Amino acid sequence: LHVRIVSLHDGRAKEGGALAVINDVTKLRRLETVRRDFVANVSHELRTPITSIRGYVETLLDGALDNREVAIPFLETVLRQSERLNAIIDDLLALSRIEQESRAGGIDLREGPLVAVLEAAVQTCRIEAEKAGVGLAVDCPAGILATMNDTLLEQAIVNLVVNAIRYSRRDDVVTISAAVRADAEGKPQVAIAVRDTGCGIAPQHLPRLFERFYRSDQARSRTEGGTGLGLAIVKHIVQAHDGTIDVRSQEGIGSEFIITLKGRMA
Ligand code: ADP
Repeated sequence: LHVRIVSLHDGRAKEGGALAVINDVTKLRRLETVRRDFVANVSHELRTPITSIRGYVETLLDGALDNREVAIPFLETVLRQSERLNAIIDDLLALSRIEQESRAGGIDLREGPLVAVLEAAVQTCRIEAEKAGVGLAVDCPAGILATMNDTLLEQAIVNLVVNAIRYSRRDDVVTISAAVRADAEGKPQVAIAVRDTGCGIAPQHLPRLFERFYRSDQARSRTEGGTGLGLAIVKHIVQAHDGTIDVRSQEGIGSEFIITLKGRMA
């Protein structure tokens, strides 16, 4: 709390006075801490692949280059780490673009058929699913209309589906389903659920899952190519739609991420 006392006595008037200015700076301070942590996290996340690239290149220059069998896997690691850097930067840019659009008068929202967006998202994830041996199933009645920004909602669904694939086992199936239901005031809304039967998430991680760079399993999600920003992007997109996002998960059984948006049955 900042308290500032301003004297109102100007030296001429008989009766003076004082004005107490009380500012609650807790929120400002917290924002400042979040911003500082974020910058520290970004630096750390970018430095990790750069350190690895440097190490391998130095070893190559120190002589490993002469041995093809050693050099090729080293170069493959360099390539993978540069792709990782790219992914982190792409995600950071996506996040800041959504934040900026939300601040500047909001994102462009239009009513349209939800199934088209879900199908497009699944199409984007098809190759990744095939590589992992995971099936994808869409269950969305054709008549559902959602008030959405197609491009952004598709990106949110893609992020959820990519995670669901990443944390599933071979031969598992990821289901993307949608339904219209009544909200607390009885108004219709659309609920989109991305469900997997993968490893699940321990309860202590659930409250922090949507924070930038938060990972429930550091080692695994890093090696699986995650940037730690996927769910933060989803949350921002959903908030820009005035929607909600919830997660339900049980370790060893699977996870379900549910987005609700404004929508109705045609
Ligand atoms: P990442 O890029 O690391 O996947 P996200 O923000 O997308 O980052 O997810 C944050 C963390 O949440 C992940 O590192 C992972 O630990 C956990 N997570 C997200 N989705 C799932 C899922 N479907 N099943 C199990 N864990 C998940």
